[in-house]
Amino acid sequence: MIWKPTLLISLATAVVIAALPAFAGETANSATAPACCTSHRAGEAQAVANLRRTLDPKQFTGQVRQAYQVAQDNPDLLAQLHCYCGCDRTNGHKNLLDCYRDHHGASCAICTGEALEAKKLFEQGASIETIRAALRARFAGQN
Ligand SMILES: [Zn+2]
Repeated sequence: MIWKPTLLISLATAVVIAALPAFAGETANSATAPACCTSHRAGEAQAVANLRRTLDPKQFTGQVRQAYQVAQDNPDLLAQLHCYCGCDRTNGHKNLLDCYRDHHGASCAICTGEALEAKKLFEQGASIETIRAALRARFAGQN
């Protein structure tokens, strides 16, 4: 049997990929709060959850649904970003997350584009400053 170099390389890659999940498991953190603090913390967590509540992505379809999903999964990210659609003046929105607390985000291509772009950059490891600059460059002045 003749081994081709490319076959060897792909075999070696497969072995490395198969070994990866073993490392991922070691980083899991199982720290829990003492019993005396859990009820207090639950109350705080609920208050934060209410503040961050966005509409259910299942109400929507296509890119709008994806954008509402981004908002639901990444409220901390969107809360740090400005929306350039003009909703800060027309709707009193403070940040991009506000666009997804109501139906505003469903009818605005800028809001949708910003959320999807932010998520893409965030997954690429971009800093919040980089994401802000990218949204400003692409969406500022469109409305
Ligand atoms: Zn907006």
